[in-house]
Amino acid sequence: MSDALLVRIDAWIDAHREELIGDLIRLINVRSVSESSNDPENPFGQGCADALTLALEMGQEKGLYAEDYLGYVGRLSLSEGSADLGIWAHLDVVPEADHWIYEPYDAIYHEGYVIGRGAADNKGPLIAALYLLWLIKELEIPFRKNLALYLGTNEEAGMADLIFYNANGYQMPRISLVPDCAFPLCHAEKGIIEVKLSAMHAFSPSVLGLQGGLATNVVPDSAQIAIAYDESLLPKLDALPQEISYEIEEDAVLFTAHGITGHTAFPQGSQNAIGLLCEAILKAELLPPSDLDLLYFISRINEDVYGTALHIDCSDEISGRLTAVGSVLRLNGEHCAELTVNIRYPVKASSEKLIASINTACAQNRFRMELLKDSHPAFVPATTPFVLEIMEEYKAFTGDDSKPYSMAGGTYARRLPNAVGFGMGWQNLPQPPFLPAGHGGAHAPDEAVEIDGLLRAMKLYARVLLRLNAPDSAAKE
Ligand SMILES: [Zn+2]
Repeated sequence: MSDALLVRIDAWIDAHREELIGDLIRLINVRSVSESSNDPENPFGQGCADALTLALEMGQEKGLYAEDYLGYVGRLSLSEGSADLGIWAHLDVVPEADHWIYEPYDAIYHEGYVIGRGAADNKGPLIAALYLLWLIKELEIPFRKNLALYLGTNEEAGMADLIFYNANGYQMPRISLVPDCAFPLCHAEKGIIEVKLSAMHAFSPSVLGLQGGLATNVVPDSAQIAIAYDESLLPKLDALPQEISYEIEEDAVLFTAHGITGHTAFPQGSQNAIGLLCEAILKAELLPPSDLDLLYFISRINEDVYGTALHIDCSDEISGRLTAVGSVLRLNGEHCAELTVNIRYPVKASSEKLIASINTACAQNRFRMELLKDSHPAFVPATTPFVLEIMEEYKAFTGDDSKPYSMAGGTYARRLPNAVGFGMGWQNLPQPPFLPAGHGGAHAPDEAVEIDGLLRAMKLYARVLLRLNAPDSAAKE
């Protein structure tokens, strides 16, 4: 690639700053939370359908070929036919939730940032990629590979979009980039197992209610048990740890454990309320021994976050140590405890072996295991030629010598062949100076994307795409 071409590319990107901000705001203002729907026309609800229509229209206006795979996935490409190189971004967003200072779906540009739900995850990178395709068209850069931008609509809610795409045998690009993480490059994503463990024996009538956690991928910050009122409970209440509060009602005592929430992919530093609750009940002996026995296994599972009690503690040098979090606790129809455990396992581990170990541990503790999900890891060795080429361009552009990394979170990369996570976030960015702590991040209130950082990411992406398009690129085979 010639220096003159790079100068033209960078100038084009700078010149389209205002227009890009405008398109990004238009896209954010469509509330595209992925929802289950019975309407075959809109598989993930009206919001996602509208966002997909809008993004495809934007691409068509810019001279790109648009394709709609029945509302599950869209595609914008340089030319018709199968794609060699893919960029996979998602249009769906997580619900806005509370504590916003700005408006989640009336996005604005403020002090260098665009603020609104999806600004960073993932509509900012998506618009940036769309503009990269437009740039290649407008500057008439000869592309021997067909480059396509894929637009998913269910990334945040189970990736049923890609499951559908795969199941229908639609064409996959040979190499894919997923702009849904931080630079430099994520080449390994841990596997994810979810199991539901149910006690084989019911609680006694002393247990009136039991619950903790709302979502399987969140460390619960609250858990409750209701125990039938009995005067013998009263002297034990003073000795409860400070994380446990209680309310005495007419015929029950309601105990609540207060923990610290976190993501199950990074549970270190959080405090699991289910673990705190079980431990306190056991220690204070607030239930008959047969009930305490049933809580014991649940308590042990949450004693650490490494799956020790399930006999699955392991690690590898690529993706680190396995984590396991008992995140949702319920009382089922048989009055038995039911705990869902979210497990992130290293890329080199065998999920069959892990599942067998969990089964054994359950049987020993008189629990039954049901496998809810096993999403296999994503792994592209760091020595793969196309990864080396991307890393060379990254280093040349930034001067940064960082190596490819692994993560416990999941992106589209795990459902695509030869796919790596690549940007478009820059590492260790300070949060927007005008926002309080806990605001501005992906999934957080006042989600924001810094426009200068996004334009810089586009310049890097342009260099990488040119490199992968070069006749001598390893991406050719
Ligand atoms: Zn995302």
